[in-house]
Amino acid sequence: MEYKRVSEEDIRFIQKIVSEDRISQGISNLNLHSVDQSHHKPSLPELVIWPIEEEEVSKIVSYANERLIPVTAWGAGTSLEGNSIPVYGGIVLDFSMMNKILQIREEDFQADVQPGVIYQDLNHKLRHKGLFFPPDPGARASIGGMIGNNASGIRSIRYGSTRENVLRLKVVLANGQIIEVGKNTQKSSSGYDLLRLFVGSEGTLGIVVEATVRLRGIPEYFSACLASFRDIYSASEAVFQIIKAGLEPTCLEIMDSRCVEVVNRINGLNLRQLHTLIIEFDGSSKEAVKDSVDICEQICRELKCEEFISGVERDEYKRIIDARHLLGESMRKYHPARVHTVTDVAVPISKFPELILFSEGLTKNIKVPAYIFGHAGEGNLHLAFMVKEQDAEEWKLVDEIKDRVTDMAIELGGTCTGEHGVGIGKRKYMKKEHGNSLFWMKKIKELFDPNGILNPAKIFP
Ligand SMILES: Cc1cc2nc3c(=O)[nH]c(=O)nc-3n(C[C@H](O)[C@H](O)[C@H](O)COP(=O)(O)OP(=O)(O)OC[C@H]3O[C@@H](n4cnc5c(N)ncnc54)[C@H](O)[C@@H]3O)c2cc1C
Repeated sequence: MEYKRVSEEDIRFIQKIVSEDRISQGISNLNLHSVDQSHHKPSLPELVIWPIEEEEVSKIVSYANERLIPVTAWGAGTSLEGNSIPVYGGIVLDFSMMNKILQIREEDFQADVQPGVIYQDLNHKLRHKGLFFPPDPGARASIGGMIGNNASGIRSIRYGSTRENVLRLKVVLANGQIIEVGKNTQKSSSGYDLLRLFVGSEGTLGIVVEATVRLRGIPEYFSACLASFRDIYSASEAVFQIIKAGLEPTCLEIMDSRCVEVVNRINGLNLRQLHTLIIEFDGSSKEAVKDSVDICEQICRELKCEEFISGVERDEYKRIIDARHLLGESMRKYHPARVHTVTDVAVPISKFPELILFSEGLTKNIKVPAYIFGHAGEGNLHLAFMVKEQDAEEWKLVDEIKDRVTDMAIELGGTCTGEHGVGIGKRKYMKKEHGNSLFWMKKIKELFDPNGILNPAKIFP
């Protein structure tokens, strides 16, 4: 596709739609919107616009479509696969000013929000109502960006990813038309499920300008446990056995002993430096929660865990979860002369121990600091590396390991990305994972965005 550069005439036209203070060609703003939190190559947009109304978005996108100018939506820029990098320049629509919580309907467990709302801010507002929006990617992400990437987090094992927690969307299509997909109902059998198509489409099919999200009640009873193992295979086998036993943890995370070393040193925790499972159960009665914890402990002890601590005190547990969320940041602090890169794959839960063992084998004795962690209860594994930025040999090694782990995950019946999305980094695995259905994905892209202006160079190899 031959894209057009943004011209003076284009800017004059856009100034009629959006007030001047919400348009920028300043280099610092262009720089800020040139790269997400990944190591992918930055690419400057030509113009950044902060819309505040859906009509503005519609007019800008429709104009860009006619003029063949790329448009990339930007939430908070915390993606990890280059998802929000404006590879072909053009316009970045930054949704941080379109950040109103429009309505909270407690009785229906729903909220209508604009895309720029930060999910922690929504949860802060909901807390005193005893409600929360469960997907929890850890970073200060926007709801629009979470919808873009179908983000998930430590509680997705119980409540699902963003896709399961969005009921309705208002979307601006490439031609500027505004459509609504989904309904404010728990279920619907009415026609094709366009809602689920837009969630996870990384802004390549349309731009979300409003969403109805599903809320849940904060459970009354809760218990947090830590199980530490000497070998990581047993830890991952415990994960599988916990799920196989039919227990329904609210959180089941794994951190290898190297991650534990980092959180102890950087976040001031005092965990045993072993491979560690963070496990949480909640429920409507103390007895139900206790029963789950007891069975979980039995499973972990049978697999020779060194230590099982139940009833971790609330403040301490919050410190552990906060540290888990900040792992990437803490790794950076621990290795200040190196840069962070992470991969994300997911497999059926029965294959998780095999994937863990394979990943450990590849990373155990390498000279690049490597870390294994993830949302284990969902078979979702992350491998992070701290690489010397200018060291081509280290990058080659890391890229090879990432390729091998991703290939293995796909061979085990899994996916090249459990939650971070395809962006730029995972495009090369799409054919292997999807085979012939990739052709139909492309057809859908061509149907919704025939000129290819929406977030080009993403998803497809
Ligand atoms: C420290 C750290 C920890 C993380 N942990 C997790 C984790 O546990 N789980 C997880 O899933 N992710 C995680 N992430 C990745 C990231 O936070 C999520 O992918 C998040 O959803 C991105 O949201 P954002 O607002 O930053 O979106 P952006 O990065 O700005 O955008 C994400 C994608 O959505 C598109 N987009 C943005 N707004 C819109 C819109 N209005 N309409 C249509 N498309 C839009 C963008 O074009 C892009 O393709 C982590 C990131 C960091 C830095």
